[in-house]
Amino acid sequence: MANRDKATNQLADFKKAQSKSDVLTTGTGAPVGTKTATLTAGPRGPVLIQDFTFTDEMAHFNRERIPERVVHAKGGGAFGYFEVTHDITKYCKAKPFEFVGKKTPVGVRFSTVGGESGSADTARDPRGFAIKFYSEDGNWDLVGNNTPIFFIRDPIFFPSFIHTQKRNPQTHLKDPDMFWDFISLRPETTHQVSFLFSDRGTPDGYRRMNGYGSHTFKMINGEGKPVYCKFVFKTDQGIKNLMADQAAELSKNDPDYAIRDLFNSIEDGNFPSWSVFIQVMTFEEAEKVSYNPFDLTKVWPQAEFPLIPVGKMVLDRNPKNYFAEVEQIAFSPAHMIPGIEASPDKMLQGRLFSYSDTHRHRLGSNYLQLAVNCPYKANARNYQRDGPQCVGDNQGNAPNYFPNSFSGPQDDPKYLECPFSISGDVTRYETRDEDNFSQVTTFWNKVLNQEERQRLVENIAGHLKDAQEFIQKRTVYNFTQVHPDFGGGIQKRLDSYKN
Ligand code: NDP
Repeated sequence: MANRDKATNQLADFKKAQSKSDVLTTGTGAPVGTKTATLTAGPRGPVLIQDFTFTDEMAHFNRERIPERVVHAKGGGAFGYFEVTHDITKYCKAKPFEFVGKKTPVGVRFSTVGGESGSADTARDPRGFAIKFYSEDGNWDLVGNNTPIFFIRDPIFFPSFIHTQKRNPQTHLKDPDMFWDFISLRPETTHQVSFLFSDRGTPDGYRRMNGYGSHTFKMINGEGKPVYCKFVFKTDQGIKNLMADQAAELSKNDPDYAIRDLFNSIEDGNFPSWSVFIQVMTFEEAEKVSYNPFDLTKVWPQAEFPLIPVGKMVLDRNPKNYFAEVEQIAFSPAHMIPGIEASPDKMLQGRLFSYSDTHRHRLGSNYLQLAVNCPYKANARNYQRDGPQCVGDNQGNAPNYFPNSFSGPQDDPKYLECPFSISGDVTRYETRDEDNFSQVTTFWNKVLNQEERQRLVENIAGHLKDAQEFIQKRTVYNFTQVHPDFGGGIQKRLDSYKN
């Protein structure tokens, strides 16, 4: 049918590509005689337990759902490549940056953060922007967002912060008191909340937003010299956002708007792409900058640390099967390769643990063997064996212990991490009162125009109005630290709701 988009027409397209139907089988591959009647004693039943055609499928159906991601449950994904356009080997030896023109396959998943798997794509929420590079040195995951910063700077808050985005323990409803109570008690959230309630808090689909690795990472070059870096992916489609009323309308009428847009665009041959940049900071510069360069609530100003062009990421293939390739794709910031290492960023350090941990729970301890996760360009060779749902050959007859004298896989010092020094007393450092506002003031004064400021104020007040008054006051106080007009504007708007 001419007016149906590619997503709507998926089944018709499948049919067109099939010359004839396959023979139906059970899970064991045995052909099935009929799929329209259970095996019964007499026409009115009962059903016999020997009906494997029925029990095989029913039992599998009962187990169809795997645990939903605790965060980023709703998302869409696609595949493509990253191509180097500029040489950055003076900073980084990682395989995807090896030479100009090199292409590395990538798998990407975009998502909202707080909502469940059935929630609306156009919710006001950060967007996950996670990339898996399938390199010859293993898989490298850059697990970022559409914002260069995050709400918190210490991972000890992560579970509580996420709980405030979820549901009230009694009512099972989203709760404005929970959200704004936490936000106002932890003023380091002010920068990200200001991004969230700006126009970029509701991007128009996944193709028209930027992506950021967000954390500070280390890059190591071929001589073993490290620098700190950040990764920036700028959309080639141009930034486009939804106004609050458009986003709300789409939540009702097309809650899968962003997934549909991504699928149709790729299926139509209109491949989305992003220009990829890095920012680089030397260790000496990191000692001198006035802010903590490892603080995830801060950006590195682009005038001081300019964007250095690196390459282009293109998405040119839709998943063939959503569950296999998108639900099961498992990103972890801990999945790094030679040339890319962790910085001291506390949030990154927390995530290095938590992502792999949650995948072992969600997908099982052999989740890295699943086709979409397996490092197919590198071939994993190690001493890990067995466990639930071992899907490969379990490394065959190779030795399963190390060291060994029988030609099992060997380590090689050329892949050692870059050594680094640490100093300072071991204690728990409270960061609540570290500079929370100066970059937000720059955002308010220099990045937003008057209309954008007005919408930011209205979007915040429109949500904050449902929280209790003492929470509203504390929130307004924080935004007043950014700029008197920011806090004052929110208060004025809150007052208008009371009249
Ligand atoms: P610049 O003045 O050099 O650039 C401003 C940045 O703001 C651009 O990256 C632009 O992205 C981005 N931007 C524009 N509108 C919005 C919005 N509504 N929400 C989020 N980002 C937006 O920035 P500086 O580096 O000097 O930083 C100034 C302030 O800009 C920072 O304090 C921070 O709040 C914000 N910012 C900084 C970024 C950085 O990495 N340095 C990145 C994003 C925001 P684009 O060019 O794609 O339009």
